[in-house]
Amino acid sequence: MIGTLTDQPVKFVIDTGGQDHRWLGNGYWKEHGAEIITSADALADQKARASLELTMLDALVGKDALAGTEPVYADTTFDERYTLTLGGREIEITHPGPAHTPGDSFVWLPAEKVMFTGDIVFVGRILGVLDMSSSKGWVEAFEAMAAYEPTHVVPGHGPATDLATATRDTYDYLTNLRSRMADYIDDGGDIIGSVDVDQSQFEYLADFDTLAKRNAQAVFSQMEWE
Ligand SMILES: [Zn+2]
Repeated sequence: MIGTLTDQPVKFVIDTGGQDHRWLGNGYWKEHGAEIITSADALADQKARASLELTMLDALVGKDALAGTEPVYADTTFDERYTLTLGGREIEITHPGPAHTPGDSFVWLPAEKVMFTGDIVFVGRILGVLDMSSSKGWVEAFEAMAAYEPTHVVPGHGPATDLATATRDTYDYLTNLRSRMADYIDDGGDIIGSVDVDQSQFEYLADFDTLAKRNAQAVFSQMEWE
């Protein structure tokens, strides 16, 4: 697919998180000579979950489709920030803290004001708060990303968009869920009823019916300990 955009070789691959679709293609790119970069937290997450992710993919797509896919890890890791220059273009990678997964990063092109957010932003589709997500860290990660005031936002899921849309579909979703959950917990609510906190403002997002209640339970479990 990238061949339709450029004839240039791929020199760098940035894994913006620890979920399968963020890094299990590393082996392919490494074979083609790319240097792979990720945050140290993402690397740890990938190592911890590699075998589980492969087992789940095997069930999902089958052995044949998965043939040749091996866990291959990044050549270069960083703690919080890493800058590289390629063909005169500066590329800044920031790991603001845990969000959708423990090691998420966003990638900023300062000259173009383009932000690649990885799974810190979902657009058009409801985001997923998973066991390994931090809903609190995610809000902070979004704020750190938004502070750059990008003109173009390329989300982890959904079409390229602007900051206002990213804010509506990701930040507003998370902050609504967290503030309503805080009230619910203050009122002595338990996990059973937590699925009923009001998220109806976001019914327009794809997969709302399958994920909204699961997100509520995950956020409840996290906020109980905050
Ligand atoms: Zn994702």
